[in-house]
Amino acid sequence: MTHQIAVIPGDGIGQEVTPAAVSVLESFDIDFEFVEADAGDAVEAETGAALPEETYELAATADATLFGAAGESAADVILPLREAVDSFVNVRPARAYPGVDALRPETDLVFLRENTEGVYSGHESRLSDDLSTLTRVVTDSASKRLATFACDYVSDRGLEGFTVAHKANVMRETDGRFRDAVAEVADEHGVETDEVLMDAFATHICLDPTQFDVVVCPNLAGDVLSDLAAGLVGGLGLLPSANIGPDRALFEPVHGTAPDIAGEGIANPAAAILSAAMLLEYLGYDEEGKTVRSAVESVLETGPRTGDLGGEASTDEMTTAIIDAL
Ligand code: ATP
Ligand code: MG
Repeated sequence: MTHQIAVIPGDGIGQEVTPAAVSVLESFDIDFEFVEADAGDAVEAETGAALPEETYELAATADATLFGAAGESAADVILPLREAVDSFVNVRPARAYPGVDALRPETDLVFLRENTEGVYSGHESRLSDDLSTLTRVVTDSASKRLATFACDYVSDRGLEGFTVAHKANVMRETDGRFRDAVAEVADEHGVETDEVLMDAFATHICLDPTQFDVVVCPNLAGDVLSDLAAGLVGGLGLLPSANIGPDRALFEPVHGTAPDIAGEGIANPAAAILSAAMLLEYLGYDEEGKTVRSAVESVLETGPRTGDLGGEASTDEMTTAIIDAL
C-alpha cells in the first residue's frame, strides 16, 4: 500500500531539517510517495499567498504531512494546515535524553492537547473603548473526541491511565464540562484518570515531572504547559509534535524557522526526525518508529551533535549518523 506524504518544508531551517526527516523515512522499505509543496514567507513574497491552494489541498488529501516551519506568515500557514487535516488533538511528547543538558533529565511525558476550541476559538470582541471580551468554547463532542483518543493512546502503550489538567474549580461551567466529559469517556473505556489543577500542575512538573505520563488538557493550558515542559528537557531542537485528525495527520518540529542559524546547514535535525518517527507510528509502523527514536537517542548520546547541543556537526552529518544507527 502506498502512503502519500505531503512534504512542506516552509521557511528557514524548515528547508534543512525537513529533507533530513524525509531521508530517514526513505531508508525504510516502505512504499512512500513524497509530494513536496510550498508554504510560508518565501512563496508569499513570490505569489502573494503564504499557503497556496494546492498546498492546502495536498495536506487535506495526503495520508500524512511533514511540515517544517514558517516565518512571519506562520499563523496563516499552520492554522489552516491543521484545519486541512481536521486536527482535534495536538500530541506533544516532552522527553529528556541522555547526553543532553536538561533542567529535569528525568522528564518523560506526553501532552494531549485539545486543538480546536477553548479560548483559541476566535470569539473575541471589542465592546467599548474600555472593554474587550473573549468567549471560551467547550463542547462535549470535542472533549469526548479528545478523551477517546487519550484512552486509545494509553491502551496502545500499556499504560493504566492519564492525568487531566484543568481549572474546573474556577471555570466551573467550561472546564467542568471538559473534566466531566473526559471522565465519562475514560470510565466507559475502563481507563483510570487522575485530576490536577493546571496551576498546581505547573509547580508539580517543575519539582517532580516523573509523576506524569500522559496529560490531557484544554487548548490554552496544553499550549502553555507543554512549553513549560519543553524548558525542562532542554533544547527546542529535540521536540517533535503531531496534529492528529480523524483520517490524516500533520507532523512538525516544535521549533520555528531559527532565522539566526538558517541557511548555514547547522540546524539540529532531531525534532524533525522524531516527528517522522511519530508519523511512522501513526501509519502503523510501530517498530520502525521505535527504531528511529533509538537511533536518535544513541546519536544524541555519542555524537556527532549539532552546535545547539555543544557539538560541531552539520545537519547532514548528524542525519547520516542517525541513518547509520537505524
Ligand atoms: P520563529 O519565529 O520562526 O519561531 P524564532 O526566532 O522564534 O523563529 P525558533 O525557531 O523558535 O526561532 O528558535 C529559537 C532559538 O532556538 C533560536 O536561537 C534557534 O537558533 C534555536 N533553535 C531552534 N530550533 C533549532 C534547531 N533545530 N537546531 C538548532 N537550534 C535551534
Ligand atoms: Mg519561535
